[in-house]
Amino acid sequence: MADKEVFDIAVIGLGPAGATFARLLNSSLKIIALDKKDGTGNSFRKPCGGLLAEDAQKCFAMFGLPLPVSVLVNPQVFAVRTVDLATGNERHYQRFYLNMDRHKFDCWLKSLIKDNVEVHNGVSVVDFKDVGDCYEISVIENNVRNTYCARYIVGADGANSVVRHVLFPKHRIRSYLAIQQWFLAKHGAPTYSCFFDKTLTDCYSWGVSKDDYFILGGAFPLKGARDRFRKLKEKLTEYGLKLNSPEKTETCLVLSPRHPWQFRIGKGRCFLIGEAAGFISPSSLEGMSYAFNSAYLLAELFNHRPEVTLKDYSRATRLLRGKLILKLLKKPFIMRHFLRNLIMQSGLSSLKRAE
Ligand SMILES: Cc1cc2nc3c(=O)[nH]c(=O)nc-3n(C[C@H](O)[C@H](O)[C@H](O)COP(=O)(O)OP(=O)(O)OC[C@H]3O[C@@H](n4cnc5c(N)ncnc54)[C@H](O)[C@@H]3O)c2cc1C
Repeated sequence: MADKEVFDIAVIGLGPAGATFARLLNSSLKIIALDKKDGTGNSFRKPCGGLLAEDAQKCFAMFGLPLPVSVLVNPQVFAVRTVDLATGNERHYQRFYLNMDRHKFDCWLKSLIKDNVEVHNGVSVVDFKDVGDCYEISVIENNVRNTYCARYIVGADGANSVVRHVLFPKHRIRSYLAIQQWFLAKHGAPTYSCFFDKTLTDCYSWGVSKDDYFILGGAFPLKGARDRFRKLKEKLTEYGLKLNSPEKTETCLVLSPRHPWQFRIGKGRCFLIGEAAGFISPSSLEGMSYAFNSAYLLAELFNHRPEVTLKDYSRATRLLRGKLILKLLKKPFIMRHFLRNLIMQSGLSSLKRAE
């Protein structure tokens, strides 16, 4: 330990949260960033709808950061077609999402990290322990076990966060299994759709066109998730979608916090940002704006204080957590069959489509 280099901060995970946090830190800090993705595009890819919501776009406005066209895909769709498969109710709602290639977006965010951060790609963090004045972090790098030391750890490693599991081994945040399949697009008109079906999931499913592909995905209760996805495909085939021979299938956990106390912001000198903290909207599964905002709030603290405490971070994220609590209150109006259908039947906020 005596001759090991000690970093000020180790950032674990360089998705939207970690890459933003690492980019915003002052160059006076000595930072190491450890990420599973190897930068070539062949390793870890986050399964995602890849839609940049208005709140996330606002973060880019705040950062003064323009989005390169190279991360966008065809088409840009301005309405979501919402279908309740159990009742046949269908409505269109205006939306202002940007349709992106999520993997290109992640790689672009990572490319913005400045040289003062020592980035290690293709590295999996497996464990860490407090050894007094720093943490010793165990990783698998190039198939070899290695360790790094840092005074602070920032866990930005997503829904299945190793950092959160090590800090809170018994803590569970409500999760779904997200399953997505990519099909060569054969549907004529490109779409963005949301499908609800209370017999398959109490969350929702989606279909979105991206360049030459149509992606069908859904978030399902962990038990029987694959079977539920198969049934969804059968139902949508009856609806006219062509869902044969998927080009690829992706799965991952997606969190949907049930109560405000399911959020976890960290412990000791370890902080959690983005989905690792449970910061994701339970009513829509939009998570990027919370990843950017929590990253920004924590980076601001590190940039302006010699020591950062959990109390500081808790105070800084009060509004963000308040917003998530409002999303928790909104959730039943979207996910509960009776309330959703009441709203859909009323036509509230829906678009009248030209024939
Ligand atoms: C199917 C699906 C669709 C979604 N669609 C949308 C959408 O359209 N719009 C939206 O805003 N949100 C969407 N979300 C939510 C959004 O993807 C997440 O909330 C967002 O990615 C969170 O960002 P993050 O940086 O916190 O975590 P992540 O994006 O999950 O990034 C975590 C990073 O940590 C790294 N990592 C993980 N474990 C380790 C480890 N042990 N060691 C080292 N590195 C590690 C990985 O390389 C990864 O890049 C969707 C989620 C899912 C599952």
